[in-house]
Amino acid sequence: MNQLKCWVCGSENNIPFINQKNDVNIKSTDVKITDDRYGKTLPLYKCSDCSFIFAYPLPENIIELYENLEDDNYISTLEPRVKEMKDILKLSLKINPDAKRILDVGAGIGLMVNEAKKIGLDALGIEPSKWLVNQAKEIFNLEIIEGIVPDEKLKNEKFDIIYAVDVIEHLETPVQFLKDLSLMLNENGLLVIATPDCDSFIANKMKEKWWHFRLAHIGYFNHKSMSLAVKNAGLKLIKYEKQVWYLPFGYLYQRLSNYLPIGFMTPLVKKFKKVDNFPVRLKLGDSMIAFIKK
Ligand SMILES: [Zn+2]
Repeated sequence: MNQLKCWVCGSENNIPFINQKNDVNIKSTDVKITDDRYGKTLPLYKCSDCSFIFAYPLPENIIELYENLEDDNYISTLEPRVKEMKDILKLSLKINPDAKRILDVGAGIGLMVNEAKKIGLDALGIEPSKWLVNQAKEIFNLEIIEGIVPDEKLKNEKFDIIYAVDVIEHLETPVQFLKDLSLMLNENGLLVIATPDCDSFIANKMKEKWWHFRLAHIGYFNHKSMSLAVKNAGLKLIKYEKQVWYLPFGYLYQRLSNYLPIGFMTPLVKKFKKVDNFPVRLKLGDSMIAFIKK
């Protein structure tokens, strides 16, 4: 992509947002799921028409970065992520209670697929990282498809619900992505897109220090730009929900200590493993879940 043009509405009316002087050469280690260099992003621009925020220029090898992704820290933070997946599964089944067959795009090590199978759904997952696909096999004995959408192996396949949790913010063609997903959706099928909300209370308060500003995230939505992306993909937005986060207390504590003078408690937190791993339920509202239909 060599033009400074909004990826959602096509506008050329874009203004510099943050980090204009940053280097655009990034490596696989820069896009780790657990990367915590918040505020470090590629140069970002904001569309004056639809308010979508996107990175420009982009490195050329983005897909490769994800294919080569390895992240040991991620494996140690699975428990709270399972809870997030369960919540999203529950919310989507309220809308489509008769769903039988689901697909998780950007499936990681298969947390969503695993939870869906547990409740009797026929579940498939697709994931670009070879390492994560191997971990899914090792940890859950799941066969996750190694690849990205659209994929030959999924051609002609249809699903009742398709999930893309924390995926669309990594993609440079979000509208095309929604179109590709809708082709695999049954007539009454449901598309569930979860992504950070850059107009949330916390995002507005923390400005460029917001934890979702990171190198791996190249596109940032609010309700306005997400609704427009959905419309431009020829789809209908049903409703938005706020994603609930479950973070291990130790992790949360460590993040908070970057902002608050609570460092003196560190030895105590580290001493008690149970305290360190305790999942804290947070309805921060800084991620949105969009429920979409044809
Ligand atoms: Zn725009």
